Amino acid sequence: MVNDQMIQIPKYIISASEAESMAKSRGLTVPQLLPSLVKSAQDIARVPISNFHVGAVGLGSDGRIFCGGNIEFPGLPLNHSIHAEQFLITNLAAHGGGPKLLYMAVSAAPCGHCRQFLQELRGISDTQIVITDQPLENPDYKPISSILPDAFGPFDLLDQDMPLILEKHENKLLLVDNALSSKNENVSNLPNGYTELVEKNDEKLQREALDAARASHAPYSGCPSGVALMDCDGKVYKGSYMESAAYNPSMMPVQAALVAYMVAGGGGYERIVAAVLVEKEGMMVRQDDTARLMLKHVSPKCELRVVYYARFSHWPAFGAPANAPVVDPIDTYTEETDKTFNPSDLPLPDITEIVPEQTDGTPAGVATMVTKQMKAIEKKIDEFNASLKARMDTPNASHGTKECISECDEVFGAAVDDIKNTLDSLDSQNLFKANFDVSAVATNVDTCNDCFNEMVGGDPEVKKFSDWVGSITGEALEALQKATNY
Ligand SMILES: [Zn+2]
Repeated sequence: MVNDQMIQIPKYIISASEAESMAKSRGLTVPQLLPSLVKSAQDIARVPISNFHVGAVGLGSDGRIFCGGNIEFPGLPLNHSIHAEQFLITNLAAHGGGPKLLYMAVSAAPCGHCRQFLQELRGISDTQIVITDQPLENPDYKPISSILPDAFGPFDLLDQDMPLILEKHENKLLLVDNALSSKNENVSNLPNGYTELVEKNDEKLQREALDAARASHAPYSGCPSGVALMDCDGKVYKGSYMESAAYNPSMMPVQAALVAYMVAGGGGYERIVAAVLVEKEGMMVRQDDTARLMLKHVSPKCELRVVYYARFSHWPAFGAPANAPVVDPIDTYTEETDKTFNPSDLPLPDITEIVPEQTDGTPAGVATMVTKQMKAIEKKIDEFNASLKARMDTPNASHGTKECISECDEVFGAAVDDIKNTLDSLDSQNLFKANFDVSAVATNVDTCNDCFNEMVGGDPEVKKFSDWVGSITGEALEALQKATNY
């Protein structure tokens, strides 16, 4: 029996024991309790544009209840808005609410954008949802799959074992040494009057933004990023980028950091005085401009600085696997050059050597050609990797070179796995998937070259090898794409 209707607790997270006792005192189960919390979740909403308050309440598998509201930003395009369900998921993900969202109550029917974003959670089709802003004794829960049939989701693009939102991510990233002073204004030049405070907390800001980038979910673009915000008391709040398979519903890191700010009890946005974005220079997907724009509107005094990370290793195209080894805490490297090394005389075959015949463009013809190309690349990866490893024993090999050689060993191993996947895909005549597999080969081999570029200012042999693989995979991709439409 629901006897005291709405429960007015303007809270973002309710502990498992508190949730249990709240439910028990009303003779309800915790899932039955959720609708009575929706009204208080609506109070989270900051909606100066629509004045339409949406509240979302969810039960995580660890027994805690997480809340969210919709957030709008005047002066910015509407697509910067944070939806209540996204707020809830960001809150749940940031506080380790367990690997699953079990139940959810929302004040209004989730929009298409949110139904799509929710697909990034494993097993979401079984999550139970009820749409109500009233306390109900017997809420009519139904599975999410019933409100989004025929869903497009992560596994249309990723392998089943890739980590999703709410699962552990450990992107292997390190900050580039002196990125701050070389590519951005120095801290002491900040115009906002909080120079001293920023200086005092700068290391923490960078560290938290890096942590957020390491935990970010960017399997589709391979461009993880994170933002940390600091308020005028020196408190730091971090947010991780979270991608959606459908791209547009993705949660930007600056949005996630604003959610963290609110959940931690942050007040007006104008209290935010400094921000650091960690991402990689020159990547395909970047947050710099949009984060700057957003912060300019929410807190004009806030200074955003961008710090680049140096490495993005292992499975670059699809994010780090769940069991990726954890890297050491921030470790910075100075730029080293070791020109003493004698480049190996590994002969690289001309591309025509391994593609002797023209393909007729039929799927079968293309499969034969790509199979031959992949086998040739595999053989050369083994040879090249062996010649790289021989450098380990060179007395003058620098720290950076050694780092990259073990890095290359790892990504070359991943590339060989990608080649095996390509051959399997070709075997089963799945040319569409073969496209993905071949792209992954190229990206993995390129990561080795990236490492040398960043750590030791480049290596001609490694570049040559990377270019060689790039030209062959480029040709394979072109042929596969044509054959897919054959
Ligand atoms: Zn929505």
